[in-house]
Amino acid sequence: MVASETRRFSKVLIANRGEIAVRIIRGLRELGIRAATIFSDADRRSLPVLLSDEAYPIGPAPSLESYLRAEAIVELALEIGADAIHPGYGFLAERAEFARQVEKAGLELIGPPSTAIAAMGSKLESRRLMIEAGVPVVPGGEGALADLDEATALAESIGYPLMLKASAGGGGKGMRLLREPGELAAAFRATRSEAAASFGDDSVYIEKYIERPRHVEIQVLADQHGTVVSLGERECSLQRRHQKVVEEAPSSVVSPELRARMGEAAVRAAQAVGYTNAGTVEFLLDPSGEFYFLEMNTRLQVEHPVTEMVTGIDLVRWQIAVAQGEPLAPELRSIEPRGHAFEVRLYAEDPFRGFVPSPGKIERLRLPEGPGVRNDCGVYEGDEVSIHYDPMLGKLIVWGRDRREALLRLRRALEEIRIEGIRTTVPLYRALVDDPDFVAGSLDIEMLDRKLGSGELEPAHVSQLADLPLIAAALEHGLRQARASATPAPAGGRRGHWREAGRHEALRGRR
Ligand code: ADP
Repeated sequence: MVASETRRFSKVLIANRGEIAVRIIRGLRELGIRAATIFSDADRRSLPVLLSDEAYPIGPAPSLESYLRAEAIVELALEIGADAIHPGYGFLAERAEFARQVEKAGLELIGPPSTAIAAMGSKLESRRLMIEAGVPVVPGGEGALADLDEATALAESIGYPLMLKASAGGGGKGMRLLREPGELAAAFRATRSEAAASFGDDSVYIEKYIERPRHVEIQVLADQHGTVVSLGERECSLQRRHQKVVEEAPSSVVSPELRARMGEAAVRAAQAVGYTNAGTVEFLLDPSGEFYFLEMNTRLQVEHPVTEMVTGIDLVRWQIAVAQGEPLAPELRSIEPRGHAFEVRLYAEDPFRGFVPSPGKIERLRLPEGPGVRNDCGVYEGDEVSIHYDPMLGKLIVWGRDRREALLRLRRALEEIRIEGIRTTVPLYRALVDDPDFVAGSLDIEMLDRKLGSGELEPAHVSQLADLPLIAAALEHGLRQARASATPAPAGGRRGHWREAGRHEALRGRR
């Protein structure tokens, strides 16, 4: 590559808010690039505004009038002399039209070309491209269904249960599970008309429904010189209503051999659409070990830190480098995960009341610290959580030498964290780290919903107001009790180390 092809950004505009804006500011700062952000009326005193070098008002609180104003954002970038725009995730990040506007304005998008976003934005188009590229897709139809007769015939040949999907659907919308033939006719009509109304495209298709799969995704990085690398997988099966809540890397069921095969498939997927920058190829992994392409997220993911923790690679730094035209470093071709990482998403939602959003003032915020702990947090103590946006406050990420150590560390960090004034999903995670299936790593994408539905996973009623000396006293008491009644842990007993310490019982006892 010739040096003249690379350029150096001096200022980047971040078209986002919250924790991801903070993450990007940090990446830019470390490279000596000025970080400019936009903010809505609701975000005047937000953490990204406080941390950035320059901050510009973009409109009233509703996203449509602020963070989604594509044209105004491009104009602002030009006006302030930014070289590039980083869209983060959500908002404009996967809008091909926005990417086109950025390109047309002569600015760099810190993301893939608009053509790659467009190709991956259509389920049918991406499915066709993946089949052509030899990437395994869920068995099913290859084109839009012309009518009910065609749907019936194809459904019979694939066999039930089935998924009926709108090609233009997304975010879990425009998709129906069909258990038996009797459900097809009504679902076909409904999905079609909904798709026409919501997405302006009534193409629908069917594919096999995979029972109890895992969601395993591959992080890829691609430069502008034809190099695409896989950075390994993330296990994202812990979802509530198809929304990820806890992620880890590596996956406990992915062997080095499977990792290599999934990595190669992901690289082929990226190459098939001329991808550049960071992207994620999502797969369903069935219990027999077969994997199928689900979709490609053409942006930085919420859960990118777990990959950073086990690879030592700064993904935001590489996103910027690639957008500047730099080639990927040769050592990125042979990255193996080291240790284990977990991420829990801290949502301002009340897990005791059906996960209703819990806006309000954060009266107290104490984030955990210590070895192997990372906080990607978008708020500060005294900050207001608005009703206008996604309720995710940030993420707690931990690293350990192996899964067991990472789990113990996660448990310890969750004991330290204090968020008061609003409700959060922390109590759910405190319960989760004691769940035998989670501890054993036996997960599937419906596991969390099943456990929440059956009451099996009671969010731990650990008082968020508990003071450290009280906890310490309770722990000490629990330890003494545990020692007094100490029986040897069953050989290989997966909860042995929890029980031994007796810490959980001690904390629960404080209810
Ligand atoms: P969206 O674009 O709306 O997010 P996806 O196609 O990515 O739709 O699917 C969303 C979720 O639905 C997946 O994460 C998975 O949990 C479930 N799902 C999708 N397709 C299938 C399938 N064929 N079999 C089983 N589950 C599926």
